[in-house]
Amino acid sequence: MLEIKDLIVSTDNKKILNHFNLTIQEGEIHVLMGPNGAGKSTVCKSIMHHPSYKIEEGKILYQTEDITNCSTSEIARKGIYYIQQSPIEIEGITNLEMLRSALIERKENLDTFAFHKQCKEICEKLNIPTSFVSREVNVGMSGGEKKKNELLGMWILSPKFLLLDEIDSGLDVDAIRIVGENLKEYQQKTNASMLVITHQQSLIDQLEPTYVHRMQDGKIIESGTKSLAKKIEKYGFLQDTLANDVSESEQNE
Ligand code: ADP
Ligand code: MG
Repeated sequence: MLEIKDLIVSTDNKKILNHFNLTIQEGEIHVLMGPNGAGKSTVCKSIMHHPSYKIEEGKILYQTEDITNCSTSEIARKGIYYIQQSPIEIEGITNLEMLRSALIERKENLDTFAFHKQCKEICEKLNIPTSFVSREVNVGMSGGEKKKNELLGMWILSPKFLLLDEIDSGLDVDAIRIVGENLKEYQQKTNASMLVITHQQSLIDQLEPTYVHRMQDGKIIESGTKSLAKKIEKYGFLQDTLANDVSESEQNE
């Protein structure tokens, strides 16, 4: 479904992604972990064709189509939905206006009554007031509320692929649980694929990822399952040798 082939990306004349490879099939959830500065957010921004990031080499394919040179709006229209680490505020445009115009642009038949009913149900599920629907996009919302507000957009626009960059940041424990449940429910209903950047073990447990990857210096250096996330939580990113030594001795016990 999404295939990133040997991507080299630079910004400010500095190489950030260095032969980055990743393939995500339909319905799969992939978690991407790595120390600060490893290039995790750059992966998302490169997929979305952020203008500050230059793709020097490599390709990004989505549903076998080469999207490396597509514009951000074309990529979004193809069904890739990106929730940024710090969602931007859009003054002067309400959620309602933005979401309605996105649906109208897709030429979807919009029944206003059904649309409002759907928004209300989603707000209840996300534990946010229904009044969020008529607020300006993310304006004056707390960090956690912004993340939930972006999820409101996800339910309405029903993307097939989600890029979630530290969706847990700014969320309290209850909100993490609600967001985790929400994402899992969405994934099960739509069979969407997800690339999730997180170090939050409780969220990883809830999402039950297909694969967990560890990134360093602009590329994936290790891939595994949930146990890789547990190992990283236990030993950190810096203590490889220790982790290997200990797991070998654990195995020998
Ligand atoms: P991560 O999300 O893994 O913490 P990022 O992808 O945000 O890492 O950044 C990777 C590296 O690229 C960091 O060293 C960061 O400072 C640098 N970088 C990212 N974006 C820019 C930018 N727009 N200008 C200059 N340097 C950047
Ligand atoms: Mg980041």
